[in-house]
Amino acid sequence: MRTADQHAHVVVIGAGQAGLSVAWHLQRAGLTAGRDLVVLDRAPGTGGAWQFRWEALRLGLAHRVHDLPGMHEMGLHFDDADRSRPARDVVAEYYRRFEEHHDLRVRRPVAVTAVRREVGSGPAGSTPALVVETRDDDGTTGVIRAEVVVNASGTWGTPFVPWVPGRDVFRGRQLDTTGYRDASEFAGQDIVVVGGGTSAIGFLLELDGVARTTRWFTRRPVVWSDDPDLALGAAVAAVEDQDRAAKAGRTLPSIVSGTGLPVSPRIRRGLARGLLQPEPMFVRLDADGVETATGEHVHADAVIWATGFRADLRHLAPLHLRTEAGGVVVEDGRAGAEPRLFLAGYGPQASTIGANRAGRRIARQVLAVLAADDGERSPARA
Ligand code: FAD
Repeated sequence: MRTADQHAHVVVIGAGQAGLSVAWHLQRAGLTAGRDLVVLDRAPGTGGAWQFRWEALRLGLAHRVHDLPGMHEMGLHFDDADRSRPARDVVAEYYRRFEEHHDLRVRRPVAVTAVRREVGSGPAGSTPALVVETRDDDGTTGVIRAEVVVNASGTWGTPFVPWVPGRDVFRGRQLDTTGYRDASEFAGQDIVVVGGGTSAIGFLLELDGVARTTRWFTRRPVVWSDDPDLALGAAVAAVEDQDRAAKAGRTLPSIVSGTGLPVSPRIRRGLARGLLQPEPMFVRLDADGVETATGEHVHADAVIWATGFRADLRHLAPLHLRTEAGGVVVEDGRAGAEPRLFLAGYGPQASTIGANRAGRRIARQVLAVLAADDGERSPARA
């Protein structure tokens, strides 16, 4: 079935931190949610990617989660949220209350399957409007025409697993971060964890005393960061690196390789126990394990690939944004190749604080695009 075509001034794809932040700023500027401003999310519940994170993850275990703008006036703060509850439940609850309080009318589950230019629309010489194609859970498809699209689709849908010889030969279980539920699934097993970020460390700490053995392999040596001032400086430099890559349309560098890994008290205890001992990346998998760089065979029942994510931009393919350098040109949240498209939460904005800041900056630019369009269609001019 196909629903009647619709129109909105702005479509926001994704109701995670980035999408909600942009939507909140646009609503404050006068757009009416559900009419001028349509927010779509393919997931069943609130919370963005957080709703899918593993049960044992608690707020504050890895990094800080920043409040959404507009949460303070509701008396909600992540800093004093209940840390005994799974982070996924807390974030999903806070975002649900946020959406309800601000009446953002997110439509879910609605997946955006494609965004394309509507060739021939608008006055001669104007840039064509964008067409957003959607599919509901029951298979119903639809089309929303929009003057501006804000893509805030995050990375959770596109985990990255590097190619290593033998990946197709290994007979044990292989999973990436999105497939990890609970350490108890690995009770009594030999587990190989791959990846140099906070997810890998979280898994190793949880598996300690549950799995029979764990071994940890990383592509680059792990750099621990013990000094909060140095860590802050490195974080700023890593975000600048991301920004340079986004402006140049290059693939985005890993944030962790730029910042080093902060040593929390829990990690310090893991280090003291000798649990967190990274080894150079293994050279191949075979049917029942991996072969290390020194030629040792390590038996494994499962390999957990905690090897990061890529921006989930598959639905933007019809816009041909990819450069030869493998990335997308994005400057201050705006796509270089499409002036009606913004990418919130991309590259330098990919953390809860970055996504928050992006909300204000992107909303301001969106309003400028609307104001430059037909005055009658622009609520920003009303
Ligand atoms: P998301 O939260 O991923 O939201 C994107 C939304 O878009 C999702 O709801 C998804 O359903 C929807 N969507 C995607 N594609 C489509 C489509 N085609 N159609 C419709 N909807 C779509 N950052 C921090 O600041 N602090 C932390 O502690 C922290 N911990 C992290 C732990 C892990 C394991 C990971 C992977 C990341 C972590 N991050 C953390 C970074 C994280 O990326 C941000 O916290 C935040 O979730 C990003 O928000 P977002 O809105 O960009 O993306």
